[in-house]
Amino acid sequence: MAVNSNSLQFLNYVMKKKIKVLQCKYLAGFGGIAFAYGNTKIPRSTLIVNLTSAEHCPSRALGLCKVESVCYALKCERIYPNYKHKNIVMERWLTNASTTEIVSLMEAYIDNAPEPITLIRLDEAGDFRDQNQVRQWNKIARYFDMTRGIKTYTYTCRSDLDFRDAPYIVVNGSLPNIQGAAREYKCVPGVEYDNMAIGKGEYKCPGNCNGCSLCSTARFNGIIYSRQH
Ligand code: SF4
Repeated sequence: MAVNSNSLQFLNYVMKKKIKVLQCKYLAGFGGIAFAYGNTKIPRSTLIVNLTSAEHCPSRALGLCKVESVCYALKCERIYPNYKHKNIVMERWLTNASTTEIVSLMEAYIDNAPEPITLIRLDEAGDFRDQNQVRQWNKIARYFDMTRGIKTYTYTCRSDLDFRDAPYIVVNGSLPNIQGAAREYKCVPGVEYDNMAIGKGEYKCPGNCNGCSLCSTARFNGIIYSRQH
């Protein structure tokens, strides 16, 4: 069947409307963008889901985050009140919503994406709240892997949680020896990063995920060094 531009526009309108309808129902009419399509260093084919705000980051509260003073997400929340508001609205909702509701809102965003979604990135800001949330998101990651071939990856400082419960999430541990992490992803100060000679099993993050997918695959199990912002 031929699809003309009018019917494409109508389809687009219906799909966008679905996001609005769901947000009205689930998020008390929140009109912002619940899940972002990429950011300045992540391609638009990645759907970003923040489980908590940076302000209420559980790793920060527990003293597990070692880079709080240079946390980019925290900085952004202080500069951009709308970004902080969005993260706090989503944090509340993701704490209370059912897995089915979360999946249906994510599907509306995926169906309406500007380009096909290949990855889900958890926590550009924030971290996992508890072990139950790790299990819940493993189920969600499994669902999207099985139904659409979309893989899920994340970064975490929650060394007190066990990510062996989450085989469908590729976990980059921001601290050493996080159970179930694929590898360590370590932030180092700029001078240290610039002068670092890397050895076997080490990699220097180029700082732009357009063209690099090391963090989203489970293949590399060494250490990735990242330059602090
Ligand atoms: S190592 Fe590659 S995928 Fe990971 S954060 Fe750096 S640029 Fe992105």
